[in-house]
Amino acid sequence: MKQCEKCKEWLFNCDAKAGRVHRCPPLWLVTCPEYDDEWQEIYESEESSAAEKFAEEYDADSHDMMDGNTIVVSVKPHEDNKHYNLCADNIKTFVCSGKVIPTYYASEIKRD
Ligand SMILES: [Zn+2]
Repeated sequence: MKQCEKCKEWLFNCDAKAGRVHRCPPLWLVTCPEYDDEWQEIYESEESSAAEKFAEEYDADSHDMMDGNTIVVSVKPHEDNKHYNLCADNIKTFVCSGKVIPTYYASEIKRD
């Protein structure tokens, strides 16, 4: 399976001949000011999903957020983002939380 080198999206359904061309989602800069002051580049369709992706990566090791902890995340458009000129000073702030989704399994018990 091919993966976009820029945004890392898996290219399931792309076929240039059929007009199905991949376009990267807009680029955002995301940081968690409480723990870090470096802005991380994230491709997502909108600010809130960029914040969610950041939280997912942030929480990948500790799973702190699965226990009800939250982080506050700031998101602003990257200068390559077409929204940059419209809202360059417009840093949005999100509280991010997570939850474990219950998963159920069924295994057949074979009769003797
Ligand atoms: Zn891409």
